[in-house]
Amino acid sequence: MGDSQTSTTHGFQAEVKQLLKLMIHSLYSNKEIFLRELISNASDALDKLRFEAIEQPELLADDTELKVSLAFDSDAGTLTITDNGIGMSRDDAASNLGTIARSGTAEFLGKLGDDERENARLIGQFGVGFYASFIVASEVTVESRRADLDASEGVRWISSGDGEYTLETIERASRGTSITLKLKDDETEFADRYRIQSLIRRYSDHIAFPVMMPSADEDSDELETINSATALWTRSRSDVSDDEYREFYQHISHDFEAPVCWSHNRVEGKREYTSLLYVPGRAPFDLWNREAPRGLKLYVQRVFIMDDAEQFLPLYLRFIRGVVDAADLPLNVSRELLQSTPGVEAMRSALTKRSLTMLKKLANDDESTYAGVWDTFGEVLKEGLAEDTSNRDTLVELLRFNTTRSEDTAQRETLAQYVERMVEGQEAIYYLTAESHAAAQSSPHLEVFRKRGIEVLLLTDRLDEWAITYLTEYDGKPLQDVRRDGLSLPETDASEDEVSEPPADDSIVARLKETLEGVVSDVRASDRLVDSPACLVTAQDDLGMQMRKMLEAAGQEVPESKPALELNLSHAMVRQMAATDDTARFEDLAQVIVGQAQIAEGRLPSDPAQYVSTLNRLLAESAS
Ligand code: ADP
Ligand code: MG
Repeated sequence: MGDSQTSTTHGFQAEVKQLLKLMIHSLYSNKEIFLRELISNASDALDKLRFEAIEQPELLADDTELKVSLAFDSDAGTLTITDNGIGMSRDDAASNLGTIARSGTAEFLGKLGDDERENARLIGQFGVGFYASFIVASEVTVESRRADLDASEGVRWISSGDGEYTLETIERASRGTSITLKLKDDETEFADRYRIQSLIRRYSDHIAFPVMMPSADEDSDELETINSATALWTRSRSDVSDDEYREFYQHISHDFEAPVCWSHNRVEGKREYTSLLYVPGRAPFDLWNREAPRGLKLYVQRVFIMDDAEQFLPLYLRFIRGVVDAADLPLNVSRELLQSTPGVEAMRSALTKRSLTMLKKLANDDESTYAGVWDTFGEVLKEGLAEDTSNRDTLVELLRFNTTRSEDTAQRETLAQYVERMVEGQEAIYYLTAESHAAAQSSPHLEVFRKRGIEVLLLTDRLDEWAITYLTEYDGKPLQDVRRDGLSLPETDASEDEVSEPPADDSIVARLKETLEGVVSDVRASDRLVDSPACLVTAQDDLGMQMRKMLEAAGQEVPESKPALELNLSHAMVRQMAATDDTARFEDLAQVIVGQAQIAEGRLPSDPAQYVSTLNRLLAESAS
């Protein structure tokens, strides 16, 4: 007898311990969700068995009726959930019920604080799954046997959720898993027929397998089916209630919160398939993790094939959840095969359009709800500008922008609204990229636009500078970065405003150029400044600051490039500079002017310490 026969004790992975502790406290008011999680797992296990049985029908043996059954004992305060699905080996039990495999879990848990409501929200987004049992159970016993193992290779896993579990190899005649909860003293309500029934109807009705319970009739040992046991997406739209759609979403997404909207469609004809797509109400914790699972749940003629089939949607729609059930894909289709299977590409293109149409409809019907979706997923959607040129026209309508008109970041505009408000003679759509809304608002580059009443889009998301370069024009109007050279401004009446003071002699331009040789690429008189003495302007084909930072952070070598300095000849400081013969003072002022322009860009002066000492010297001089 090997070691595996004896009972062994193991510690949970640190993340599991942490999750258990947090969950038991913060999910207390949602405790009944444990049943949904366990039934959802049972249904997954049945799906997996049916999938493996395509190639190995012998796995089903004579136990072909796949189902979940619940049993309870109110006197003992126990509840048991049994499935005849794929089951677990001893090793499976140790890794599946003792660790969390999702990458980024530790960081995620590290972010949780003391606020239980906030924690509940975040944990809901993470998904607690099996571990939710410990909200109501003082002890959980899992007995299981993998479908391809002998009866002597069953496993018993026991834990009271306080840091350890034991494993034991057992005889188990039946395939699949049985989970018994010893309910805490004040949770025995869950060992009650009516309570269980109503929870199944409420949360698990859409499960495609029968969920059964012993009949209420004491003399009968028949099981009765509590749920409707048909795959929800196979039903017609008019037969499915909103609540049922929402519950189904929670089953497939592991999200506790309701989806924002969904789109359920059957496509007939040459290629038959049904899809049910959802827009979630919030982002998963790993939205920005490149390795995070994404994609739709794939079924072929109602047989579950795989989770996270990423072939059916582009990367920029990775937040969409849902199911696709194809009538004519081969049952043995693998992830690799999907790439070359005829028809998959056409489905991807159709599902992409469907998703965008669903978003567009939401934006049209309910702008304020759409605003929330944009807040959550707008940054991801914008990647589509680069990724998906074929749907650019639709995507562009989905874009929302803060502009110089926005009182706060919540106020967003569409490009159509922007164009509608363009001033007489304005030919371009202007935008500014910056680190934050506040930084954008105070950029010297906006001065002339403010003065002339021209709206500017303010782009402050991490990827904006990159994404926006793919949007070269909208409605026939080119997009122009106001921080770059070659800016064309409409002639407006305001531009003829007389300046109260005569501008400085423009010989300062050449003088400054000499002084700042090597620091800036050029010095020019500017027509874009009102209140600031100077600003930095990037050449048309140079990398912008955001891109530069991103590439540097990714460890790439970025070619050096120097911006040009544009001068406001009417500014008092510039006029003062132009008037000085003192070379040392001129050089100091030049330093300060460049340093300020760098700061206004959200950067540090090239030599911060020197900048400070120069500034102090000038201040001391003017004070004396
Ligand atoms: P998830 O369902 O999101 O994978 P859970 O915490 O709910 O996470 O479950 C963890 C893992 O435990 C599952 O992925 C599965 O491998 C295993 N598991 C849980 N319940 C069962 C079951 N009834 N039958 C087989 N495996 C199960
Ligand atoms: Mg689960």
